Amino acid sequence: MVKIETLKMKKQFAVTDNYDVVLSTCSGGKDSFVSSFLASHFVDPEKLYILYYSSPWDFPGTRELVEKFCVERGLNLIVTAPNVDINKFCVSYGPPNQRSRWCIWKIKADPTRKVLAKFPDKKILFVDGNTREESYQRRNIPLFETKRFNDRDVLHPIFDWSEKRVWTVIRSFCLPIHSVYRWSNRLSCFCCPLQTDSAWLSLRRFHPDLFEQALKLERECGKPFRRGYQFLKDLEAPQIKTGLREPRKMSLRFDRRRLSLLTSCNFEGLE
Ligand code: SF4
Repeated sequence: MVKIETLKMKKQFAVTDNYDVVLSTCSGGKDSFVSSFLASHFVDPEKLYILYYSSPWDFPGTRELVEKFCVERGLNLIVTAPNVDINKFCVSYGPPNQRSRWCIWKIKADPTRKVLAKFPDKKILFVDGNTREESYQRRNIPLFETKRFNDRDVLHPIFDWSEKRVWTVIRSFCLPIHSVYRWSNRLSCFCCPLQTDSAWLSLRRFHPDLFEQALKLERECGKPFRRGYQFLKDLEAPQIKTGLREPRKMSLRFDRRRLSLLTSCNFEGLE
């Protein structure tokens, strides 16, 4: 059993005493479940809220997984929704890309303003599940940032954690595991235009219905959904050129260490 009640962790969360409201963002992915679990352990439950950004691009079952996590632990939950119809906006504006990640504004930043308006005159802190490993650009940021998100302070309690440690905590404390982790090591929007070709191939293999939805959206947009301005409908051809192969059995996508961590886990969410 891994220990979470460490002096370092207590010190990190001591900062939450200075705030009236703590919003812990939870996407239903492994990292944010761990950071929200830590928040539920260290933060006064009266002022803690789990914040889930719902969108039509979520994998089915994700919201239910977050709701179950909150109900089981008696946590306050806030579910947001985009202010606009994401699919219609995508058709008129074009899919997000490396230069224009409008999806983050529409799915997260704009709805956050509405949430902040619910707590006028309150001092608000965000807690997130960002890790150093997942972002090269943000590898040097501090664990605590002031005025980082919507002009509010943010605590990144697991920023220095390895993926192994995250999985160990998930298994030790029986935290939910989204079924997407059977075949992928991250949970994003199912039609995220920034995902790799390999991730698209996995989506096509394991969730052909969702892949079909992404194809439909691409057709309606008339603009390519894949990185490098490539069409999703042409996924077959580059696959041969670049040597990308269809993903094999799900478990083979995990290395041995991760597989041993996951063997006894119960996956939830979309089947
Ligand atoms: S996962 Fe992709 S599509 Fe979804 S908000 Fe992030 S960048 Fe945008």
